[in-house]
Parts: sequence; structure tokens; C-alpha cells
Amino acid sequence: MLEQPYEYAARELVEPDWRRLPGFADVTDEQWRSAQWQRAHCVKNVRQLHGVYGDLLDESFYADVEADQAGRATMSLLLPPQMVNTMAAGGDGTAVPTTARMLADPVRRYMLPVASDRLPGAAASHPYAARDSLHEHEMWAVEGLTHRYPTKVLAELLSTCPQYCGHCTRMDLVGNSTPAVAKLRFELKPVDRQAAMLDYLRRTPGVRDVVVSGGDVANLPFRTLEAFVASRMSRTLSISSRPATNASRFLNGRLATSPPETTTSRTPGVARRYSSIAVCRSTGFSSNFSLGTAGVELPTRSMRVQWPQYCGQVDSSSASTLVG
Ligand code: SF4
Repeated sequence: MLEQPYEYAARELVEPDWRRLPGFADVTDEQWRSAQWQRAHCVKNVRQLHGVYGDLLDESFYADVEADQAGRATMSLLLPPQMVNTMAAGGDGTAVPTTARMLADPVRRYMLPVASDRLPGAAASHPYAARDSLHEHEMWAVEGLTHRYPTKVLAELLSTCPQYCGHCTRMDLVGNSTPAVAKLRFELKPVDRQAAMLDYLRRTPGVRDVVVSGGDVANLPFRTLEAFVASRMSRTLSISSRPATNASRFLNGRLATSPPETTTSRTPGVARRYSSIAVCRSTGFSSNFSLGTAGVELPTRSMRVQWPQYCGQVDSSSASTLVG
């Protein structure tokens, strides 16, 4: 028998105190737990980042972010406050961020890349890196519908997410253009694109697994999602960020990045009604990451109680304590 090379260990989940960040010092509990407040106070540029951290970080850090955005960044900035608050928080959630802590923080590395993270010149990227690395656009049967496998399709219903990750493999389509990447744009109106997808699916009976994604379905009005899903309910349906199995899955990166959104959104209800299994594919949990907080744990447990099929598709010991 092979020895387990990784020691899994649960850790106590804590909610870092957002008031340790100057820009959130006066934010009340009620505001912090409001999905609307979280959305309205996302960090979208260096000026807003400065407004959150102020003088805690050296000017060199802000210049480093700016240099990356102007040069190599493939995704624009979009950071929900909940996610900002998990960076450089220390194990007990009380650490005051410093430039050195921020530079070393794993969530910061993938959500807020800086120019100095990257190797110089061509080494900054993998030699085979491509803007559409999974060749999804090449396999569009109709706009936004990738038909790679005989029985399975990926429906990209929208091209936005509640947060933008620096490593996004769909950076070709998802998010705002950056100086380095002019994004592909859907040409059809959403209603026409979805009609074209449904028409293709009607004409292609071999497809039995439809993965509804984007972007992130958390950004889709629930009525739009329900209309699309309902029209396919006679067949196996998957709702996920990535095609994986024939089980029905539900993407909800929002659980980790804005827990209040998960408890107030009606989108999980759509997945619950039309899917057999729902999966929260949270955004990049790992045992060292601090995304798993007490604020994420509570709505996760609540969803598990209300929705027994709900389970996690995450890759860490810390996350397994949330969803197991
Ligand atoms: S949530 Fe997923 S699709 Fe959206 S930016 Fe992050 S990696 Fe890309």
C-alpha cells in the first residue's frame, strides 16, 4: 500500500477582522454581511486598493500592481472585500498586512498579481501558454457552446465573474480587456445566444450532459438561468465551472468570495430544483490558503442542511473541513 504523502489536518476557521484594514475600519457587521455592500465595494483599481490598505503597504507595492496591470496581466482587478480580508491575515486572522506579508500571501498571488511575481522576458509564461489554452472557442458549435465530447457540451452563458483570478484559463473571453489581452466578445445578444444554444441542443440529441458555466453563473439573473435550465430538464444537466463528470454540478465560487451572496441568491435554488447533485467548486482553496473562514463555514453548513445533495469539489484539507 502506498503511503499517504500529504498529512491532512483540520484547522479552526476564523473570520479575519476586516476593521484591521484602514478602508474597512468603520464597516459595521451588518454592512459586511450584506451581499449588496460586498458587491458595491469590490476593489477594481489601484486607487481603490490604496483606499483599503492605505499606508500599511509601501508605495512600491501599489506601483508593482500597476506595472503588472499595464504590462503582463491577463485579467483586470476585481476583488470582493471578503476575499481582500483573507489576504495576509495570519493564522488567527489578526495580522496587520505589511508589504512583505502581502507579497508572500498565496491568495494575493493569484488574485492580485504584481509585476515582480513574474520571471523576466519570455520566461514569464509557459512556452505553450495560449490565451484560449483549452481551445474552447475553436470548438464552439454555436456562439458560446463548446462541443468537445460526443455527449457533453459546455455552455458559456456569460463572460463575467464576481471576481477575476489572475490565472484564469478562460481569460480569452472572461472579464474586461487589459493592455495585454483584448478579450473576445460575444456578438449575439444573450437571449439570441441562449436560443441558438438550445436550438443546437434540440438538433443534437446525442448530447446528454450540459455544463452551464461562464464566467460564473453567480452573475446570471436567476430567471435567465432557470429559463435555460428548465428547457433542458428532460435531460441530464450539469451546472459547473468545468466539465468533469456526468453528474449535475453547480458552480459557486461566490461561496468563498462573498458568503452573504450564497445565502441570499436564488441561483442555488435553481440548481437544487433541476440538478441531481450540486457541487460548489470554490475558487482555489488549498491548505495554506485563508479563503476558508468562519464566515464561509456557516453558509456552507446551512446549505448542506437544506440541500443534502450539496457537496464540495475542493482540493484542500482546510476546505474539507467545510464541506465534508
Ligand atoms: S472564477 Fe473561474 S472563470 Fe472566473 S476569473 Fe476566476 S478562474 Fe476565471
